[in-house]
Amino acid sequence: MPELPEVETTRRGLAPHLVGRRILGATLRRPDLRWPIAGEITAELPGQRIDAVVRRAKYLLVEVQTGSALLHLGMSGSLRVLPVTTPHGLHDHVDIALDSDRVLRFNDPRRFGCLLWQPAGTMHPLLAELGPEPLSGAFDGDHLWRLSRGRSAPVKAFLMDQSVVVGVGNIYAAEALFRAGIHPFRAAGRVSRQRYALLADAVKAILAHAIARGGTTLRDFISPDGAPGYFEQELFVYGREGERCKTCGTPLRARSLGQRPTVWCPRCQR
Ligand SMILES: [Zn+2]
Repeated sequence: MPELPEVETTRRGLAPHLVGRRILGATLRRPDLRWPIAGEITAELPGQRIDAVVRRAKYLLVEVQTGSALLHLGMSGSLRVLPVTTPHGLHDHVDIALDSDRVLRFNDPRRFGCLLWQPAGTMHPLLAELGPEPLSGAFDGDHLWRLSRGRSAPVKAFLMDQSVVVGVGNIYAAEALFRAGIHPFRAAGRVSRQRYALLADAVKAILAHAIARGGTTLRDFISPDGAPGYFEQELFVYGREGERCKTCGTPLRARSLGQRPTVWCPRCQR
């Protein structure tokens, strides 16, 4: 599943090809993805110029004067900018034709993605309840500390709650907690302010690193699939169930949290 770093890498890859371009038309090869594709995609976009490509959490917004195409890659979606003559494949559901003889093509085999519309001056309900961006100044240790008081949920679940902070998926939560020395099952309300400061710094460092990696590995812009922003050898706990801690040599432990395995070092994380 594309995580925040892959979506940001996608945005950075797409923007130079989209911003300033006029949209000539939109072709839908099916009426729906996860939800029906918004009628405005074909009714409003053609004729308008793209002002910006913005990311919010794992959503991309292609902004024109009257609103934004709001897009999510779901589990398996990807976006490519291709010559207009490139034949479309089975899962190429949407083409947005540009005045550069290219198309922005949305491929999504599993169709958990979406393509919706946000009128200018409004906020789509999907975006309304989201917490701050992890790489923004609004996200820091004090933010985590304040929101977590009195909460008994495991700190890992708290960190992955999109109303707390957006875009910290399983892999990044596990690695940030290791880096901060915090046990993933500790109650969120029982982590100190000082340790939350370490955790926020770890989240920022890990995501920034993953974005930088994504930027170097995705040469041909966009391939969220199979091109994680992180290299396997850089992981300390995620996916290392049964192996030894790289720092202290203790066998790592694993337990499921929300139906996903969570791995930690019983010595380094308290
Ligand atoms: Zn350890």
